[in-house]
Amino acid sequence: MRFVAAIGLVIAFGLISPSPASSAERLALFDAHIHYSHDAWETLAPAEAVAILRRAGLKRAFVSSSSDEGTLRLHALAPDLVVPVLRPYRRRGETGSWVHDATVPAMLAERLAARRYAGIGEFHVHGADADLPVVREVVQLAKHHRIFLIAHADANAVVRIFSQNPEARVLWAHAGFERPDVIAATLDRYPTLWADLAFRYEPARAGSVAPDWRVLFERFPDRFMVGTDTYTPERWSDVTEHADWARGWLAQLPPELAHRIAYGNAETLLRWSLGTE
Ligand SMILES: [Zn+2]
Repeated sequence: MRFVAAIGLVIAFGLISPSPASSAERLALFDAHIHYSHDAWETLAPAEAVAILRRAGLKRAFVSSSSDEGTLRLHALAPDLVVPVLRPYRRRGETGSWVHDATVPAMLAERLAARRYAGIGEFHVHGADADLPVVREVVQLAKHHRIFLIAHADANAVVRIFSQNPEARVLWAHAGFERPDVIAATLDRYPTLWADLAFRYEPARAGSVAPDWRVLFERFPDRFMVGTDTYTPERWSDVTEHADWARGWLAQLPPELAHRIAYGNAETLLRWSLGTE
C-alpha cells in the first residue's frame, strides 16, 4: 500500500517521498497553509521562497496562491515539497468578493482540467454565503474531481458545505477561529473534516500545551495539522521561527500524536485526494 501510494504521489505531483529522518533530525513538518501570492513574487524569487521552506525543515506544504501562478512557480522548482491547491482568487483582495463572481467556477474548472491539484482553496466564506451559487459550484467541482476543500469558514459555513456534499473532505483553515468546544462538536459531527492550526497560538501561548487543546488533540488525533499562513509577503520571514515554535509545543505531546499533527494527518488527506488511501 505504501508503495502504491508513493507511485501515486510521483505520478500526480512529481513528489518524491522524503528520506527517512533519524531521531536526531528536526521533526518533519507538512505545512498545510502556505501562500505565495503576487505581491510576494515581487520581493521574493521562487528559488528564495523554496529555500526558506527547506531551511524551515518543511518536507511538504499545501500551497495556494493569488493567483495560482505563484503556486505553479514554486511547484516547478520543488515538486517534492509543494503540493498544489487551487485558489479561486486572481489577486489579493478577493476574499469577500469571489462568492459573487460568477466567472470563478469556470476559471477553476479550466485549471482543474489542465493539471492535477490536491484541493480547492483556501477560500473565505462565512455563514449563509456558503449556500450562494458560486460556492455551491465549487463544492461540486471538488466532488467531481474527488479533491478536498480548504475553507476559511465559521462553523455555520462548514455545516452548509457538508449539507451540499456529505462526502466532502474539508480542511478547516485556522479551525475556523472557533473555540475548542465548537471545534470538538464540529469535528465530532463530520468525520471527514480536518483542521489546521495556522494563526492559532492558544494551544501553546504560555509555552506549554494548554489543557483544553491537549484534550482536543487527544480526542481527535487524526484531524489536526500545523500551518504557517504566509498571507502577506512579510510572513515569509517568519516561516522558520514558526516551524521551530510548532516543534517546541509538539514535543510536549506523545511522539505518535506529535507526528500525526506535524505530518501524518496532512499526508493522509493528500493520499485520499490522489486515490491512494
Ligand atoms: Zn490563508
